Amino acid sequence: MTVVRTLALIFALMPSLLAQDISLDSSANKVGESAISIENYADADVVRYSVVTLRGLVSNGDSGIAVVENVSSDKETRIVRANVIQGRFKALVELVPGRNDFLIGNGSLRLNFSLIYRRSFNENVVRLISFVPSDSALSNGGNDETLIPMEDGEIVRKLVVAAKLWQTATAERLFDLGYGRRTFALETDDTGEVVVWRKRGKRLAKEYRELPPRERFNTIRREVLEDSQRIGELVFFVCFDSRAKNESDFSSKDAIALGVDSFSLLDAQRTIAWPESIAVVASSFSDSSPIPAIYLKDSAYRGTRWALTASTLGAGWHELSHAFGLKHTSDPSDVMSRGFDRFNRVFMVYEPKCAFHDGLIVGEKDNVGWSRENAEILLRSKWITE
Ligand SMILES: [Zn+2]
Repeated sequence: MTVVRTLALIFALMPSLLAQDISLDSSANKVGESAISIENYADADVVRYSVVTLRGLVSNGDSGIAVVENVSSDKETRIVRANVIQGRFKALVELVPGRNDFLIGNGSLRLNFSLIYRRSFNENVVRLISFVPSDSALSNGGNDETLIPMEDGEIVRKLVVAAKLWQTATAERLFDLGYGRRTFALETDDTGEVVVWRKRGKRLAKEYRELPPRERFNTIRREVLEDSQRIGELVFFVCFDSRAKNESDFSSKDAIALGVDSFSLLDAQRTIAWPESIAVVASSFSDSSPIPAIYLKDSAYRGTRWALTASTLGAGWHELSHAFGLKHTSDPSDVMSRGFDRFNRVFMVYEPKCAFHDGLIVGEKDNVGWSRENAEILLRSKWITE
């Protein structure tokens, strides 16, 4: 390896001596060279969603950090650092409208790479809603029960980040299965930002909680649909936020997670470990600190913060999939079974330790998502387009 690296360095220092057919364009990798490449996107690909999982390969290199800089961006995700493990890395990058030029580096290796982001044309979109009981401290005090766009806040940030992760995970999975990079579109405002609505319910938190889960789901669904326009064009993802001021007042045992017929619902309790920005997603999936016992079930008993993040974000993806028309399956790796526990593996090449293992490398073939059978049902949905 040292010899190869030395040779690579010599060639890098003496570009004028290179044979003519060797391009100086760093994106033109040659077999056997030390090089960085992106395996799941081609240079200048057009994508229809704003957060992208770049899967990188570093040949003749097996460790260190890949630094991915979106030169076109001034967002906090402009520079992303990803661990390179066994020559592979995954970097979650955020795109700006139009052309995005990336400079990717690992040690002395460099790759110039670009992606073009254009918004989806699909009018059938996923609408995000935070539903609060009438007595919620979060309901802004008003008596108005109509749907209103929310200001920035914890639940807004969590829902937007989660929805963008489901969107890119959907595209990656369908791409891996050979169907092209298809996914759903999110409802945006005039400026192109994803919008989250607040809907204030008619009942007290206690009244909703006393309803059996299915009835609670139907009640909330009825109330949300009452003042929603564009029914038929929308898939709803609703977060039921009945959290008390003191979080020890509730446990996750009666938390709801259901989805059917264009409507999905998840309790805000399940968003406890959700990242609030794209910039911290990778660190959320790397956090092996212990979680309180009440969240053990929600972490598939793995007992760590990263696992709680993975299972609860995965549960949201599962419920959204129900809203798109999917049903449960017996295939344990499918999202419509317990495959949603492995949501972290979409974005990471390493899974930290937990109650069941001491840390593992996520396999190249360890794709996370629906089985082919379910993916084909999903593709017939009018929400899933290129
Ligand atoms: Zn289900």
